[in-house]
Amino acid sequence: MATPAPDSMKITYTTSAADMEKIHAAFDTALAKVRSECGGKHPIHVAGREVYSDSPPIVDVSPIDTSLVLGEFTAASVDDVDRAIESAWGARRSWEKLGWRRRVEIMREAARLIRARKFELAACMSLEVGKSRLESLGDAEESADLIDYYASQIEDADGFVRKMDRLTPIEDNTDVLRPFGVFVCVAPFNFPLALAAGMSSAALVAGNTLVFKPAQDTPWTGLRLHQIYREAGVPEDVVHFVSGKGSVIGDALWQHPKVAGVVFTGSKQVGTRMFKGFSVDWVKPCLTELGGKNACIVMDSADLDAAAEGVARSAWGLQGQKCSACSRVYVHRAVAEAFTGKLVERTRAIVIGDPTQRDVSFGPVINEAAVRTFERAVAQAKQDGSLLLGGQRATQGALARGHYVEPTIAQAPLSSGLFLEEFFVPLLTVGVVDSLSQAIAESNRAEYGLTAGLFSQDPDEVETFFDEIEAGVTYVNKRTGATTGAWPGAQPFCGWKGSGSSGKGGCGPYYVMQFMREQSRCVIEER
Ligand code: NDP
Repeated sequence: MATPAPDSMKITYTTSAADMEKIHAAFDTALAKVRSECGGKHPIHVAGREVYSDSPPIVDVSPIDTSLVLGEFTAASVDDVDRAIESAWGARRSWEKLGWRRRVEIMREAARLIRARKFELAACMSLEVGKSRLESLGDAEESADLIDYYASQIEDADGFVRKMDRLTPIEDNTDVLRPFGVFVCVAPFNFPLALAAGMSSAALVAGNTLVFKPAQDTPWTGLRLHQIYREAGVPEDVVHFVSGKGSVIGDALWQHPKVAGVVFTGSKQVGTRMFKGFSVDWVKPCLTELGGKNACIVMDSADLDAAAEGVARSAWGLQGQKCSACSRVYVHRAVAEAFTGKLVERTRAIVIGDPTQRDVSFGPVINEAAVRTFERAVAQAKQDGSLLLGGQRATQGALARGHYVEPTIAQAPLSSGLFLEEFFVPLLTVGVVDSLSQAIAESNRAEYGLTAGLFSQDPDEVETFFDEIEAGVTYVNKRTGATTGAWPGAQPFCGWKGSGSSGKGGCGPYYVMQFMREQSRCVIEER
């Protein structure tokens, strides 16, 4: 059998060494191409027009090396936002009338294009976010899977058109789910393709029109997604791209009266404010997936090697900047020393470097503000407890040109605020507990409720964990990532409490229907 081309290979934990060589070669080629495209000037896309402006652009630099300018992106104004929303509003009926079958075809084409370009998309994300090669490829792969998965939800439900019971013999009842109208989609920097593609494709396939704003740190990846939608066949007045600063155009996006719904992923601070302010005259859907302060509990019966590996993978993947990152551990007193020893040993072995290089898994944090947050958290750790490892900005050699910090482990008393605040940097705090109930109570003290993990060999403890932990995504004994690793169709991603408002997460079976509203249609048949 012929070996598949790299762009048709799915990268999994069982990918063979020979295939990995091909994957690295394809990534290197794509990286060279993307590097050669750096430095361009890019417009926003509003109502089918490419718009440049005279105001200062967003200069997109790589966190790996801030002297590398990836591009200059037009900063949309409030007027641009208004034009985009008016155009999307004008297109809402035609996009709905096009019918779900055609929308599904278009979305599946977008997924195909993402797969065909996954190496370039990954190289772009690696440069723009500082993601490792494999994390970037995973982001691209997940994006395509998300789009297909959401398209399947419409197909499996036959477009959400359903014949209903008759209350009397002369009536004909049909139930339909219909789009709301214009959706605004605002994405964070850390999964600039998967989260943007997931949110936007669900809105679009459900029949809504869309105005999309990427994070100001990741406009390049966002623009590539917009281009893919257009090439796949989404009409120019149905999808609009506005790069810009949240502080300038953010409120204008969701406060526009013609916006029917918002889908947002980002911090609790921004999302909660938006949620509270969005429904003014009547209640409108505001689907938010927000921050996390994800705990892992390590019990005395745990396999400590598995626990140390699982925690390390979840704490240090993407430099602690995954919403699902493990940022606190509650370890049973009986195994605390042995566990932290293994965790420190694993973490010490991490090579910090340019994540576009093969074999480098730990790159920079996203920007200078994140470095300052790291320094603040480290100072607090020294005050409240002690550092077991790390704590410094990394500035050796070429690292001085980027935003690099060391993976850092702190130990602190359970009363420390380090256990409650989301820093979104590679700082992991370890606390010692005497029982599972204490560990769960401590985990649940945080305002957040996104992911949580447990390492235990005791089935009763596992059951208690699932029953009592306040988190939407839970994992037990997951060596490949104690609190991370959700995937469309496998592990839905739904934040509880301060981690989200939807109650039906991305990657899950109930996601798309949240972008639609129900209409009951009753026709009395003439006799
Ligand atoms: P932010 O909340 O800072 O930004 C998210 C997006 O909101 C950006 O596009 C930002 O624009 C925009 N924004 C800023 N102000 C406004 C406003 N007033 N109105 C509308 N939009 C606005 O989050 P980050 O990008 O820093 O992402 C990290 C956060 O996202 C973490 O808290 C993380 O846990 C969370 N997250 C949650 C996930 C989940 O599934 N639950 C997944 C991934 C991340 P700009 O960049 O221009 O400021």
